[in-house]
Amino acid sequence: MQTQTLIIGGGLSGLALASRLSAEGRDFLLVEARERWGGRILSEQCEAGAFDLGPSWFWPGQPRIAALVARLGLTRFEQFCQGELLYEDERGHVQRAHGFASMQGSWRLQGGLAALIDKLLLEIPSDQRICATPIKALCKTSDGVTALTDSGVKITAQKVVLALPPRVAAQFSYAPALPSDALTAMERIPTWMAGQAKAVAVYDRPFWRESGLSGDAMSRVGPMVECHDASPLEGGPYAIFGFIGVPTDMRHDTEALRAQVRAQLVRLFGSAAQNPKRLYIKDWATDPFTATDLDQRPVLAHPDYGLPRALSGLWDNALVFGGTEVAPTFGGFLEGALEAAEQAHTALATG
Ligand SMILES: Cc1cc2nc3c(=O)[nH]c(=O)nc-3n(C[C@H](O)[C@H](O)[C@H](O)COP(=O)(O)OP(=O)(O)OC[C@H]3O[C@@H](n4cnc5c(N)ncnc54)[C@H](O)[C@@H]3O)c2cc1C
Repeated sequence: MQTQTLIIGGGLSGLALASRLSAEGRDFLLVEARERWGGRILSEQCEAGAFDLGPSWFWPGQPRIAALVARLGLTRFEQFCQGELLYEDERGHVQRAHGFASMQGSWRLQGGLAALIDKLLLEIPSDQRICATPIKALCKTSDGVTALTDSGVKITAQKVVLALPPRVAAQFSYAPALPSDALTAMERIPTWMAGQAKAVAVYDRPFWRESGLSGDAMSRVGPMVECHDASPLEGGPYAIFGFIGVPTDMRHDTEALRAQVRAQLVRLFGSAAQNPKRLYIKDWATDPFTATDLDQRPVLAHPDYGLPRALSGLWDNALVFGGTEVAPTFGGFLEGALEAAEQAHTALATG
């Protein structure tokens, strides 16, 4: 296969870049490892509700995602925050309190964030995108790059955009080998939220709202350390989600984890929480297209993202970095994925 620009990674960044190149009538091919599109954006459909197992929110002050949501004709709504909060102390005692809802003012998307992905896909011709095709090696040639898929297919391109976490891209085999400072720089960039896991419990009724609770909870016991309402804008089913706070190596027994999450939901929200109609748990740390061994340790603060100098101009400008982790201002966020796609678009035009 041959193309002018090969985009590796069909998350928000790769899809946004592909949609822009498509609108410009440019020659490109978008290649995605997973059988689905969206990368860290993942929404599960249960009846009329879509429930986000990756990102849920975007925020005022993020212009690109606001513009994209508007352009695609999607509907945003504010995170539900009305009512009291819960706090579970070290001994498992649960207290109700009035207080500041940490996600008040955050935006969610009707239909889940996957609605964004579905709409973007419509803008990319189906013969210019392939999924279920992991790339495993890149080889510099006299006039560009040859990529090798894990099933042995060769794709030649003048430019390659790495629209995926730099740590995941660092696992490709490169011929010739990348300079050691480039490889070190890639491995040093933590993949935002890669070590996280999320649980979403879906119910027919919003019983917590009915008893004056917002769905917000903080816990010193776990396994969920922070919970929020995850219900659709209108109608049911309704949901609570929680970030799992136990270390990655203590999450391998999924049945035990599910039982602990259920027990905690009852401690927090009462017996009505006993039997969710669905309990989704997504552990991103065990997903090799997002997380590497380096991502198993917790990231305590939001890293300073951006494109390190060692990753500019590689292979005579044929290797271009996309993906939220190289975005200078909003790195790590959905907004950063769009910022990185813009940055890659500029690099393709000038490089
Ligand atoms: C649990 C969780 C909660 C989050 N919450 C928020 C939030 O509320 N708000 C927010 O703004 N951000 C949040 N984020 C971060 C947000 O999800 C990311 O910023 C964004 O989705 C990154 O998009 P991306 O395209 O840069 O990367 P990705 O979505 O990681 O896309 C990279 C793509 O590359 C593909 N790929 C990997 N290896 C290969 C290969 N070998 N060959 C081909 N393709 C490959 C992957 O499958 C993937 O589709 C959260 C993330 C997680 C995991």
